[in-house]
Amino acid sequence: MTSPTLDRVLDAVFRVDADFNIKFISEPGQRWLGDSASADSARVPKSFVDMLHPADVERFMTACKGTPDTFTCDVRLLRRGKENWVNIRSYQLAAVRQYVMCLIDISAWKTDDTSFRHAAEHDSLTGLPNRAFVKCAVEQHINDSVGPFSVALLDLDGFKKVNDTYGHAIGDAVLIETAKRLLKAIGPQDILARLGGDEFVLILKEKDASAAKEAMNSVLFAIARPYETAPHNTYLGVSIGIAGFPEHGDDYATLLKHADTAMYHAKNGGKNRVSVFAKSSESVDFSINAAIHNGIEEGEFYMEYQPQFDMQRNVIGAEALMRWTSRDFGRVGPDQFIPIAEEAGLMSFLGRWALRYACHQLRKIHERMPDFVMSVNVSPVQFGSDQFDRLVLEAIAETGIAPNRLILEITESTLMHSQEKTERALANLREKGIRFSIDDFGTGFSSLAYLTRLPVSSIKIDKAFLRAIEHQSAETLTNKKLITAMINLAHSIDLKVVAEGVETEDQFAFLTHSGCNIIQGYLLGKPMPADALMKCITPLSRR
Ligand code: C2E
Ligand code: CA
Ligand code: CA
Repeated sequence: MTSPTLDRVLDAVFRVDADFNIKFISEPGQRWLGDSASADSARVPKSFVDMLHPADVERFMTACKGTPDTFTCDVRLLRRGKENWVNIRSYQLAAVRQYVMCLIDISAWKTDDTSFRHAAEHDSLTGLPNRAFVKCAVEQHINDSVGPFSVALLDLDGFKKVNDTYGHAIGDAVLIETAKRLLKAIGPQDILARLGGDEFVLILKEKDASAAKEAMNSVLFAIARPYETAPHNTYLGVSIGIAGFPEHGDDYATLLKHADTAMYHAKNGGKNRVSVFAKSSESVDFSINAAIHNGIEEGEFYMEYQPQFDMQRNVIGAEALMRWTSRDFGRVGPDQFIPIAEEAGLMSFLGRWALRYACHQLRKIHERMPDFVMSVNVSPVQFGSDQFDRLVLEAIAETGIAPNRLILEITESTLMHSQEKTERALANLREKGIRFSIDDFGTGFSSLAYLTRLPVSSIKIDKAFLRAIEHQSAETLTNKKLITAMINLAHSIDLKVVAEGVETEDQFAFLTHSGCNIIQGYLLGKPMPADALMKCITPLSRR
């Protein structure tokens, strides 16, 4: 019995618009479709759907409708008058309303009459290729001498607990969600398969082990995001072992065995990390938690400031935003590291540091502009510590700033789940003159009772509402009405309104018309380092 060969492991990349009109075909794709190396446009239909076998159109559409952001399915494509089985992996480019579709020719699998035919079936839960496919793809890579590539073995940390706590239906949903996150995190030419249970494998084309390790950063972060498992979110991690071809093995069995050894090393080293195979015990681990710890010690965190303007476009303040350039992971956005720091119990420390840093900067700004106001974000977990109010008052005392020049941005969830402790801290700080603003207003619980009950002085309308008024659509009008309603409501109880994410003059004009008080967004100023912010501030003498 001969092993079925894949034509080429990745054959074609298509980009199509929302109606599946073909906008772009990669060069290998053009070759695969046509007889000659050049694209024979007359032979390529205008619509991707026209290329599908009629019997498969419905399955394709269902897969796409189910999860338009990323989906995978097997269909027959009509090519050179013949039908070819392909596996499609699709990613949505939401901003331009297009899809990128990566096609792998799997005809050999589907048509081979041997037992491979069964093996060729994909994992039925996630739709991903399975173990047999991985073996074949790895052997194909080796036979084709495509150069270095790596195999990464992924095993979720904490998945068993999900199954035990929530049952198998939720467990399955978590695995499907994991497959989607992984597909988004990897490159288009990489292959993702599910080995079974909570084990996945990645084949990383043209990447040696150290490049593969780099590529795993986004995978660690993708899995670290909370999973929505009612009634509580679940936090998982992933332990990853990497073996590179040819340095760590020159056949499938050795590569997989060594990736497995490295994966166990990652598990034993504390989980949720990447380990590269090494012959001795010298494997090196990279974990996000350790990197945050290390980053705090090494001074890898810093602040940027995004200016805020009144409606006459004068700078009146700024929001302090945390930044991290990690030695191991490069630039990491706060949306990625803050949830992890919160979960790892590091956020109180980071938040306190951010507050002091911002207050020091504010003190310098006040030498030029005494009425400048600094907004600092506060994570809900920071209220969990008994001394939150004391820490804020210390930072103020240490820097000598006026308390009424500091605004703490808190989220609706902080208020909704607030306990007596939080309310006491808020009240105490308010008494000393510190102000509070509700961040991302309108996205959370939108129960308004707390606005009057708690010492809030302004709301920040979330940028999602502004984005929605940018494109002329049915939602535009609704969102404009919503924004106007939020502004009126806030004004009726004496709250100021900040709009964030203002990117265009049209948005600015609309907000001016609606009576918004303060503007923050790329239109007037992006987040910037402290020295750039200082240049935006008019010295006292020139005002
Ligand atoms: P946020 O509080 O909603 O911060 C506003 C985010 O919008 C910032 O993203 C900012 O760069 C971005 N932004 C500002 N203007 C525009 C615009 O015109 N268009 C678009 N598309 N985006 C704009 P960033 O810096 O990535 O921060 C993300 C989130 O991380 C923040 O969201 C905040 O929740 C959190 N964060 C940042 N720094 C800290 C911190 O020191 N402490 C805490 N607890 N959270 C922080
Ligand atoms: Ca904020
Ligand atoms: Ca916000």
